[in-house]
Amino acid sequence: MNAVERRVELKSEKEIAALRAAGKLAAGLLNEVCAQVRPGITTDELDKVGAEFIRKNGAKPAFLGYRGFPKTICLSVNDEVVHGIPGGRKLAEGDILGVDVGVLLNGWYGDTARTVAVGQIDAQAQRLLIVSKESLERSMDAAKNGGRLGDISNAMQSVVEKAGFSVVREYGGHGIGRGLHEDPHVPCLGKAGTGVRLVPGMVLALEVMANAGMPEIDHKADDWTVVTKDGSLSAHFEHTVAITEKGTEVLTVI
Ligand code: MG
Repeated sequence: MNAVERRVELKSEKEIAALRAAGKLAAGLLNEVCAQVRPGITTDELDKVGAEFIRKNGAKPAFLGYRGFPKTICLSVNDEVVHGIPGGRKLAEGDILGVDVGVLLNGWYGDTARTVAVGQIDAQAQRLLIVSKESLERSMDAAKNGGRLGDISNAMQSVVEKAGFSVVREYGGHGIGRGLHEDPHVPCLGKAGTGVRLVPGMVLALEVMANAGMPEIDHKADDWTVVTKDGSLSAHFEHTVAITEKGTEVLTVI
């Protein structure tokens, strides 16, 4: 085992059951918020929908207060990659919106994200969403017992780059459990057959961040919002998976 492998906390079946409950709740929350996305709604209004859902279900928001993050969910519009802060911005027809949600349920985290269309979007935006979703799906196929972390990252990168888009270098997915962000870090790019060995008990939040243009990013003055440097559109999809003896289970589904 290398140093990172030693730091990865493997979860028992009982712990995975707790993470399954948190993942399911996060999936329900994501559906609830995405169902309200429409032209004219503000990102703050969507944040309130999320906060109310979490409260009703007896959970806690995972992101509120995390390193000082001021809102319940992350909402990233168009060229915003991740970590957009909800506010007074009204969504417009043709926007794309990255919705990233996290919950803390009975001490365990659930984390999932999806990018959705606001009304009708143009062909390039549509293709970016389809490709990014496909990239996450292929990376979930690669997340299996006996594989390597690089298999996951490489699957993400190859789908995105084959389509002529690019993956973000500086951010990625992560282990998840009693901590929102645990080891290992899961980059959106990498070499198959390299990196941490994937073994039963690993629970990973896999995140694809794909830009329609160049991979370079910047941060807005709020110090949170990550944007593409070239102003191109960006999409974000995330699922949490558990690697087990019996196969890989997606935890962030209803
Ligand atoms: Mg995450």
